[in-house]
Amino acid sequence: MVSKSRKVVRKAVAKKTVRKSKPTTRKAAPKQRKWVYLFEDVRAVEKYTGSWEGVRGLLGGKGSGLADMTRAGVPVPPGFTVTTEACNAFRKTGSFPAGMWKQELDALKVVEKKTGKKFGSAENPLLVSCRSGAKFSMPGMMNTILNIGMNDEVVQGMIRLTGNPRFVWDSYRRLIEMFGTTVFNLDDEVFERPMAGYKAGKGYKVDTDMTAEDWKALVSSFKEIFRKHVGFDFPQDVYKQLELATKAVFESWNAKRAQDYRRATNISDDLGTAVNIVTMVFGNMGFDSGTGVAFTRNPSTGEKKMMGEYLLNAQGEDVVAGIRNTEQIANLSKNMPGVYKQFMNITGKLERHYRDMQDVEFTIEHGKLWMLQTRNGKRTAKSTVKIAVDMANEKLITKEEAVLRVSPEAVDALLHPQFEERAMKDAEKAGSFFSKGVNASPGAAVGQIYFDADTAERMAKEHKQDVIMVRPFTKPDDVHGMIAAKGVLTSEGGATSHAAVVARQFGIPCVVGASNIEIDLEHRSMSVNGKAAKEGDWISVDGTTGQVFLGKIPTSAPSLEEQTELMTLLKWADEISARPNIRKAPKGWPTRGLQVWANADYPKDARRARSYGAMGIGLCRTEHMFFEPERLPIVQRMILAESSAERTAALNELLPSQRKDFDGLFEAMDGHPVIIRLIDPPLHEFMPDEEKLLEEVVTMRVKGETEGLAAKEKLLNHIRALHESNPMMGLRGVRLSITMPEIVEMQVRAIFEAAADCALRGIVVKPEVMIPLTGTVKELEWIQPRLTRIAAEVLAEKGVKKLSYKFGTMIEIPRAAVTAAEVATHAEFFSFGTNDLTQMTFGYSRDDAERNFLVTYVEQGILPKNPFQTLDRAGVGKLMKTAIADGRTTNPSLEVGICGEHGGDPESIEWCHLIGNNYVSCSPFRVPVARLAAAHVALKYNGKSIAEDK
Ligand code: PEP
Ligand code: MG
Repeated sequence: MVSKSRKVVRKAVAKKTVRKSKPTTRKAAPKQRKWVYLFEDVRAVEKYTGSWEGVRGLLGGKGSGLADMTRAGVPVPPGFTVTTEACNAFRKTGSFPAGMWKQELDALKVVEKKTGKKFGSAENPLLVSCRSGAKFSMPGMMNTILNIGMNDEVVQGMIRLTGNPRFVWDSYRRLIEMFGTTVFNLDDEVFERPMAGYKAGKGYKVDTDMTAEDWKALVSSFKEIFRKHVGFDFPQDVYKQLELATKAVFESWNAKRAQDYRRATNISDDLGTAVNIVTMVFGNMGFDSGTGVAFTRNPSTGEKKMMGEYLLNAQGEDVVAGIRNTEQIANLSKNMPGVYKQFMNITGKLERHYRDMQDVEFTIEHGKLWMLQTRNGKRTAKSTVKIAVDMANEKLITKEEAVLRVSPEAVDALLHPQFEERAMKDAEKAGSFFSKGVNASPGAAVGQIYFDADTAERMAKEHKQDVIMVRPFTKPDDVHGMIAAKGVLTSEGGATSHAAVVARQFGIPCVVGASNIEIDLEHRSMSVNGKAAKEGDWISVDGTTGQVFLGKIPTSAPSLEEQTELMTLLKWADEISARPNIRKAPKGWPTRGLQVWANADYPKDARRARSYGAMGIGLCRTEHMFFEPERLPIVQRMILAESSAERTAALNELLPSQRKDFDGLFEAMDGHPVIIRLIDPPLHEFMPDEEKLLEEVVTMRVKGETEGLAAKEKLLNHIRALHESNPMMGLRGVRLSITMPEIVEMQVRAIFEAAADCALRGIVVKPEVMIPLTGTVKELEWIQPRLTRIAAEVLAEKGVKKLSYKFGTMIEIPRAAVTAAEVATHAEFFSFGTNDLTQMTFGYSRDDAERNFLVTYVEQGILPKNPFQTLDRAGVGKLMKTAIADGRTTNPSLEVGICGEHGGDPESIEWCHLIGNNYVSCSPFRVPVARLAAAHVALKYNGKSIAEDK
């Protein structure tokens, strides 16, 4: 095996450069490009590409795995790989690149020698499979053709050799069928329907009922079908078979389903697929033969236990298709103890070598074990976290690797809703239980059912419905429907079936093999013992337990505390982020990684934020507290006040409740900073709806009702007076505070009274008062001294001497960012309000842009992403970067954060690390995601300077 595979990456780059830039000597004869490598040639490939990453790129995941196993002495059937470079050359011209076919034939000769068999010979025939394999695995998306090398003559030879005509005819019909469907794109139905008809005619239930004569008869009809649909006879020339199969695999890279898959998984279209030509070994040679697939750890839960299935006397696709009932892998120890021991030994070695959970395919031919594939197994979010943490604890990988192996999205998926247990019990009592299948991909999904992928996709995309896709089983062509669906339900197949594998990969809750469900595709309905659901009906699918219910079941967010492995992983992430000098920076700038704070308005949110690991509150939007039903009338009275005294009286009524809110926040965040933003929205938002009020006034006038009319008219006039054409750019934020300072004066008093009370109770309070929507430093010059005076007064009144607090501002207006050096002479901290900053930098309304044009902009490539979700680095991001640098020139200890929605987005978090933020602040639910993202970027840019141009 490759012992230093991962260590050579750096060298690789250097080597690659040398190889490319080396001038070609004129005299030397032009060396033929190598398009084909035998499995045992892996060292040459390493030399050519310079790294294991390069080997994977050239030979694909499957090819590099087979080569690596061959080198390690694992029993792999002899074979070779046609490179991805050959595929890319083929895709450009539509024909094999010069020399490739000859190299393929030469390699075949070597394989003939190794196996002692001959391709196309009736005496001792060599059969091969032709398998796709890209750098990143795309399960089932591209083509594979088995049993290449059979023709009418070879069939006779094989019968003589094996004495097993049943096996031979079955293998031949498989070849013709696969050739038709994969090389010539015929519909599966073209072969499946006549086969089902044949079986029904004979009264057979399963394939194993078929005799040699039956398969032979089917071969004749398959040949006829082939001729009818393709226009010529099934090729008897075995080399033609190999050529067509190789081309078909190359071409399958561009198949729609492969393209859809790449879109969904961000795999580049440029990579191309390799083609692996592998000597056929047969699991269907009798009951001393078999075939199976297995994962070295449980891909659903992460449990450290081999999980897999096998079938005796069967070929690979029989296991995956779920047509026959498979055996659990542990039973192999009874059927074939020797093989089982060898299998466990090899897979254990493979896992230790690749230092990751492996997904293997194997075949046993007459008692001899052959490994056909090993690759890092796809897994659920839950399993990803458990395997990463377990492997770090087993010292198989480092803690840093464990942290890097889990994507922030996986953490998000783990905190996704689950069905409430009580609600499930109630549903069961109410008779809504429908079926139970295999819990293939965890999570709760509620949606309307559709029975084919196209409709499922259409309903989800065009009609914005929550969709559950229901099928007897899924095929690669169904992936687009699955991706669009909230959940997937199948009546056939097991934990390794196509539906299960794909759903796990995309984090879609999925139940498979709910075998008592009868699906009537024609009438678009399904039923279990008379209970039925038709297309469009709601169901609830629990991928965690495998249960399916009719109707909708409520869901709730799972607790983080119960997920011990995730807690451990996040603790490691925090340790990484907290390392000193993980960022190099000038004095005053942060040199540790990012902290993660949370946006929280109420004590209960703050408590959740703490339990999710937030190290501070980055934004408390105080106006939310004004909307409480018992407070709103007082707020409205305050707004309608005709004198300052009247306004102050109303505010004095509000003060105790504001103080109580802040008290709760400080208590929940004991020892951690709490940023409280002073009132921000325009006042009309607190007033009754103008149109509704007008309707009431008009109705009263028409009906001649006078009681209360004058008051309503006065209110209406007031609301009209507050009207602005463009309120988001109007009287709000600091502008409102300057025109009506009483409100913020009350708020600051409430903040410091609460802070002092808490401090006196022994709570460590660190209040930070945030002034929103600053555009010029003059605004701060005007308002801030009034507020700091109140803070000092309150602390003196309460007799609290030592309490650290800050006054700072939000940077939401481009002008504030551009004049940051001046703003920072007053502000002790900046918090980027990137919702408004994006709105104002682009000039796009944050409330309307998505609905009106943003989706089109992204689709048309005018914008790479929605800038309200992912920071626009070139514009908004650049403003932030210069604002931080300028701000710290006048105030070197300036604390910098972000509290817009971007604070929970991994890509935006990366930018915040690079430009020198101290922290990011996001919704409490995103805190775990952000903690992991912060550690990822810290590791990615470990020790790099903030000042370096990015
Ligand atoms: C912002 O503008 O990014 C922000 C956090 O403030 P709000 O969303 O309340 O306007
Ligand atoms: Mg804002």
